Order: sequence, then C-alpha cells, then structure tokens
Amino acid sequence: MKIIMLGAPGAGKGTQAKMISDKYGIPHISTGDIFRANIKNGTELGKKAKTYMDQGLLVPDELVVDLVVDRVAQDDCAKGYVLDGFPRTIPQAEALDAALEKMGSKVGYAINVEVPDENIVTRMSGRRACVSCGATYHIVHIPPKTEGICDRCGAKLILRDDDKPETVKKRLAVYHEQTQPLIDYYTKQNVLVEVDGTKDMEEVFAAICRILGE
Ligand code: AMP
Repeated sequence: MKIIMLGAPGAGKGTQAKMISDKYGIPHISTGDIFRANIKNGTELGKKAKTYMDQGLLVPDELVVDLVVDRVAQDDCAKGYVLDGFPRTIPQAEALDAALEKMGSKVGYAINVEVPDENIVTRMSGRRACVSCGATYHIVHIPPKTEGICDRCGAKLILRDDDKPETVKKRLAVYHEQTQPLIDYYTKQNVLVEVDGTKDMEEVFAAICRILGE
C-alpha cells in the first residue's frame, strides 16, 4: 500500500496520513516533519531548509528527493508507506517514479484531500505545534487537554511561522503553481482518488478507508 497524500497546506493531509499509518501499520513519512527535526537539531540541511520554509517557499528539489528515495528503500517500507508532503513538484514526482521503478515498485494511490482556499487560511490560524516534539493540534478541531501545552511531552504549543496568515497565502500560491499539476500527473497514471476535506476528520478518514478497501 504505497500512498501519496495530496492537497493544499492545511487541508488535513498530515492528520489523515497519521491515521492511515496507525490503522494499516505502515510508516508515515512527512518531509515537513523531517525538515523541522533537522532545524531543531541544527543540521546543515535544517539551516538550508529553514530559509525557504520561513518564507512559505518550497525547499529546492535536490534537498528533498534523495532523502525520500533513501527512506522508502528502507526495510520498514517494504509493505507500504504514506508520503505526506512529497512529492510537491512534477520533477519530484518523476524522480520518485524513476526510483520506484528501479525497485520494481510504484505508487498505489494518490489521495487528494480537497479543501477550498477560503477555508484554509481560517483553519491554519487555529493550528498549534509543539516546540519540542512537533506534535500538531488545532484549537477547535484537535485541542490539547490543557490549553497551550502538548499532550505528548508537556512542552509549549505555538503558531508556527509558516502557519501565519501572510505565509499561508504565499504557501497557497506556491501550491497552486507547483503542486496542483500533480493532480493531472496522477490522474494520467490512474491512481488519483479524491476525498472531501471539508468534512470532519473522522468522516474524511472513513472515506479514505472505503477507497483503500480494507
Ligand atoms: P509541510 O509540513 O508538509 O506543510 O511542510 C512545511 C514546509 O516544508 C513547506 O512549506 C516547504 O517549505 C517544506 N517542504 C516540505 N516538503 C517539501 C517538498 N516535498 N518539497 C519542497 N519543500 C518541502
């Protein structure tokens, strides 16, 4: 079960990816999380990625492709995985396809979580992320047990720079220009499926499970 999550930033694809990963027992690979972990650990990759992320821009393809290709080649990915936030450009998708072909594998489903732009900015201003472990919450939809505190590790929750309204608008523009073409790309491969991301999280997940058929 090799799954790609597509959708605008804030469409809820990360939340759905985690739920798929838990239910089907396959790794959740989030490039955004990988970059944030690198930023936190002060690595060279983190330093490079941060300059783009803070402006709402995509990190260059060459910094992300090898990282994902190496990850999906690991043993725990043999049964499948759910890619969240990758690919985000046509060259990334082509590089992934080429690498998978070499491994005798291919993408099974590209799940597009559809949410209109007007819902996105309001949604993202409610997002909160843990400064320490990176867990994400939403003040209305997925509130922490104690306001402002991470359930998982007890650290402080913040509004990430890249979730601030000005950055979100930029990220949406980047999404339409660079990532939306992937919808056609995967439609042509007959692997694109769509779900209505405006529904509540459990309903969206039920729709995804019906598609995955297990
Ligand atoms: P996310 O948490 O998936 O929304 O990612 C946060 C930020 O990380 C994005 O706005 C990009 O700057 C960067 N990023 C994550 N994945 C990719 C990717 N596949 N290609 C380029 N940039 C990425």
